[in-house]
Amino acid sequence: MDVATNLRHIRQNIEQACEKSNRNPDDITIIGVTKYVTIERTKELINAGIKNLGENRLDGFLQKHEYIQDNATWHFIGTLQSRKVKEVIGKVDAVHSLDRKSLAKEINKRAANPVDCFVQVNVSGEESKHGIMPEETLAFIKDMEGFANIRVIGLMTMAPHIEDENELRQVFRRLASLRDSIKSEQLPHAPCQYLSMGMSNDYHLAVEEGATHVRIGSSLVGS
Ligand SMILES: *Cc1c(COP(=O)(O)O)cnc(C)c1O
Repeated sequence: MDVATNLRHIRQNIEQACEKSNRNPDDITIIGVTKYVTIERTKELINAGIKNLGENRLDGFLQKHEYIQDNATWHFIGTLQSRKVKEVIGKVDAVHSLDRKSLAKEINKRAANPVDCFVQVNVSGEESKHGIMPEETLAFIKDMEGFANIRVIGLMTMAPHIEDENELRQVFRRLASLRDSIKSEQLPHAPCQYLSMGMSNDYHLAVEEGATHVRIGSSLVGS
């Protein structure tokens, strides 16, 4: 399928989810995840109207970033090793995988300006998943206060690979409520207004539960 057709379909689903949940589609940012595809295909995505791009690996990110900078906002959505931070800083617009203090420390040290970060939360508690445990998230974020170059703009999670809609909703709901409680603290370094959740299989549910950033790869550009 061509990207524009896929995108039209995705936008329709997002509009439907917004209708169900009384939300405004303008409040939802589609991040096109380009990790499976070529630079050519990524350019098609931009031509179709997607400005926000996501990569989960350093190599893929650097490779595409070299060719695609104009009109693009880059999100780093995968695990980031501390020793690789210097390679992405200054190129990436948002990091979705802040999950440990050592990483924050490195970003803080390398960045010339505050970096927008989502704190990754392991809502489902799966051992294989990265992320801070929900009950430790507020303390972790408070701890970021000393890092002048870290701005916590939201929370991110990866839902488990399951079909059960109710279970998925529970995960998204827990992240939304955690976001609400952190936002209500009104921490100057952590406005925490955004929710990065939902991928190809579950973004419609994530939007119904409050996602502001959905990260969509395979159903948008193919895999
Ligand atoms: C690959 C990836 C996505 C997109 O996955 P799809 O199921 O292809 O939409 C979203 N978020 C992260 C962190 C990813 O690594």
